Amino acid sequence: MALIVQKYGGTSVGSVERIQAVAQRVYKTVKAGNSIVVVVSAMGKTTDGLVKLANEISPNPNRREMDMLLSTGEQVTIALLSMALQELGQPAISMTGAQVGIVTEAEYSRARIVDIETTRLNRHINEGKVVVVAGFQGISSAGEMEITTLGRGGSDTSAVAIAAALRANFCEIYTDVPGILTTDPRLVPEAQLMDAITCNEMLELASLGAKVLHPRAVEIARNYGVPLVVRSSWTDAPGTWVTSAKPQGRSLINLEIARPVDAVEFDTNQAKVALLRVPDKPGVAARLFGEISRQKVDVDLIIQSIHEGNSNDIAFTVTTPILKRAEAVAAAIAPSLRSQSNPKSDEAEVMLEHNIAKVSIAGAGMIGRPGVAAKMFATLAEAGVNIQMISTSEVKVSCVVDAAECDRAVSALRTAFEIEAGEQGAGSRGELLTPHSPPPVRGVALDLNQARLAIRQLPDRPGMAAKLFGLLAQHNISVDMIIQSQRCRVIDGVPRRDIAFTVSRMDGENAKEMLTQVAAELGWGEVVLDSAIAKVSIVGAGMVGHPGVAAKMFEALAQQQINIQMIATSEIKISCVVAQEQGVKALQAIHAAFELAGSEKFVVPA
Ligand code: ADP
Ligand code: ASP
Ligand code: MG
Repeated sequence: MALIVQKYGGTSVGSVERIQAVAQRVYKTVKAGNSIVVVVSAMGKTTDGLVKLANEISPNPNRREMDMLLSTGEQVTIALLSMALQELGQPAISMTGAQVGIVTEAEYSRARIVDIETTRLNRHINEGKVVVVAGFQGISSAGEMEITTLGRGGSDTSAVAIAAALRANFCEIYTDVPGILTTDPRLVPEAQLMDAITCNEMLELASLGAKVLHPRAVEIARNYGVPLVVRSSWTDAPGTWVTSAKPQGRSLINLEIARPVDAVEFDTNQAKVALLRVPDKPGVAARLFGEISRQKVDVDLIIQSIHEGNSNDIAFTVTTPILKRAEAVAAAIAPSLRSQSNPKSDEAEVMLEHNIAKVSIAGAGMIGRPGVAAKMFATLAEAGVNIQMISTSEVKVSCVVDAAECDRAVSALRTAFEIEAGEQGAGSRGELLTPHSPPPVRGVALDLNQARLAIRQLPDRPGMAAKLFGLLAQHNISVDMIIQSQRCRVIDGVPRRDIAFTVSRMDGENAKEMLTQVAAELGWGEVVLDSAIAKVSIVGAGMVGHPGVAAKMFEALAQQQINIQMIATSEIKISCVVAQEQGVKALQAIHAAFELAGSEKFVVPA
């Protein structure tokens, strides 16, 4: 006999018939000798409908009232599903988040779970009942008793958190697709079903736009080692397992708000190659990295900043022993990137930096917590360390600094984030999926909900990144890709660089307004907002030590004449910003280039 938490999403409970079908499945699982807690979403598009209603009354509704409103959707489903189970003769009881005791922070619309009471749940389970819990909602701690929600898509998070708290045998997420696919089947019907994916890979995919799982649900599964499977509520097919390494016996107190950073990592065996002023047109990155991969040079971080005039800078890091080869390739290609009419111009200059180190903070707890990157930058600034290059993923921030400053940087970061020397992050613990090595690219994701902000001519000195991202954090604005230009220009005797980053599109205008004011006060340059962007990303744990993956992605875009506006990478992902109207085409081209398509076409039920 097992204790199983099953979660059913909106489409899966979208009608009376669907609710009855869910009740049948739950009933069958109980009859097979299992205990079940069911977590449900609101029916169909109910939550969207409620958001629309609110917007008809106020363009900017009060966040407390919004949570009060949105939490009603799930409450309808729990009552109906309990009734459907009772009709089958199965004892069942519905419970709201508050009744269970899903205690969260008092942060409306994005509350994190602090603790889950298990006494009441266990009592009902032991009495042989199926407990039907409202997903997506909680209650702030004693005294306040405010109704909170966890953020859109948050029922997945409720389910995995309950599974962790009850130490359930596993958690099943039932949805409208057969499992996790290589990309969104609504955009690429040939997407292929995976049997399994590691938590680290899924965390990146989920954060980069694959909404099949809420990233915070994956984070909890990883932290607590909850076996997690995504399956279709229409069939009995086995679905996709999300695998994690053995958990470290973490406490359930402060479930979602434990340390945001698990590890401080560094690598002094790195060198940086920068190509300054390369033409801003399709195919340039493809040519450069194509040649580099033909020379079997494995690049680590790659960044391409926003264009200035009609040129870009591209920089990448390699391990020191292969620097000579990487440099030779970059130098050989540079002349062909210069304009034919003026071959002596200062275009495509190659710049090398031997004495650098990469220092990183890693941890899934930084997702949606805007202050973490800012704290890293502030810590480095206080230690007097200048940041040469920044590269971010949702679960990691890496900075390239002068090698001589590496020790100082690492020890300051360890103190700031309370990490003992030698402690390893969940990311480096390794997740055994199969005896085979993981594929270089597991999946592709598209995010159409981002906007890009750029600030021109920010003084290049320690503390600038800290100041900028500290300000954004204070305004509760989460930043995603961050890219600093390589080009440094001296204006009024001060060396200056541009810095660009992406934020959620919702936050774009606010962030621009706030930063424009600050820029005027501090003498920074222009603040530019572009909301018409798309971010397309590839994710795969096997891309480490596998030259040519980046080149193939860039080549796929070049073949479609899609210009890359920004590039950022982490060990297991590469993201490119392209024009919004080219987003879907970019996703399709990349999915095809990595031969991820299957033989079947998926039709997602309405
Ligand atoms: P639910 O209501 O069950 O929580 P969601 O709509 O939140 O369902 O998530 C399922 C949807 O996620 C699918 O219908 C699909 O369009 C989308 N999706 C995006 N990326 C992927 C992917 N890589 N694999 C599967 N589905 C994906
Ligand atoms: N009903 C909520 C939403 O639509 C939560 C969920 O479905 O996961 O976002
Ligand atoms: Mg969902």
